[in-house]
Amino acid sequence: MEHSVEILGIEDVTHNVRSYRLQRPAGYGFTPGQATEMSLDEDGWRDNKHPFTFTALTDDPELEFTIKSYFDTGGAGVTERLYGYRPGQRLLIRDVWGTITYKGPGVFIAGGAGVTPFIAILRDLHHRRQLDGHTLIVSNRTEADIILREEFEAMRGLDIVWTVTDDPQSSLPHERIDAKFLKSRIRDFAQNFYLCGPDPMVKQLRGTLKDLGADVENVTWEK
Ligand SMILES: Cc1cc2nc3c(=O)[nH]c(=O)nc-3n(C[C@H](O)[C@H](O)[C@H](O)COP(=O)(O)OP(=O)(O)OC[C@H]3O[C@@H](n4cnc5c(N)ncnc54)[C@H](O)[C@@H]3O)c2cc1C
Repeated sequence: MEHSVEILGIEDVTHNVRSYRLQRPAGYGFTPGQATEMSLDEDGWRDNKHPFTFTALTDDPELEFTIKSYFDTGGAGVTERLYGYRPGQRLLIRDVWGTITYKGPGVFIAGGAGVTPFIAILRDLHHRRQLDGHTLIVSNRTEADIILREEFEAMRGLDIVWTVTDDPQSSLPHERIDAKFLKSRIRDFAQNFYLCGPDPMVKQLRGTLKDLGADVENVTWEK
């Protein structure tokens, strides 16, 4: 089912990521980690559907998306067009569907905007004071690209490792997430692993985790 919802508020999260607060249709529910096909509610764009993850708490009166915009699509990209949107404009959202499902404490590994499904899951655990035993590892190009850094760092019980791949000025680790990186930071490969990011990263890390003894069934990723 399709719902036209009004944008109630927009906030900058990073230089190219914004959070969008939206009206919530009556009875519209989701679980942390789920997504919907979204499109812009204007002529010529309604059938251009792209998946985005809900990032608000499940019982918030409003919905929220946290969306990275790409500005290299020559105006054809949905996220570039969305960046010009203002409160009062409308989006189309549809049925919710599962992407990454929380199965228990473990290690969340993300590349860039791949952290978005983990925002909802970790906010929910934080809200329920159940974050002990969870680790968040995120790789970004630069420190300025880190999404919601302050909020994650304020989540008591969450262990965090930020790493950057292209930021010589940064004092954060400058390491790619690979077998050496994981072995130096994780002792238990029998716990749950949650992966989300660009396809090549996810493919490679899935293989790496398998080699390190992680149960592949415990490795969940965006398909
Ligand atoms: C289940 C799911 C949930 C998601 N949730 C979120 C979310 O909550 N927040 C979020 O920010 N994103 C999320 N995404 C990603 C999001 O759907 C895409 O970023 C979005 O569809 C991009 O649309 P676009 O039209 O703006 O750009 P696109 O035209 O898709 O281009 C995006 C970028 O990819 C590049 N690109 C395009 N095609 C190729 C190609 N063939 N090879 C290499 N590069 C290419 C473009 O140059 C551009 O830089 C999610 C994806 C999935 C699958």
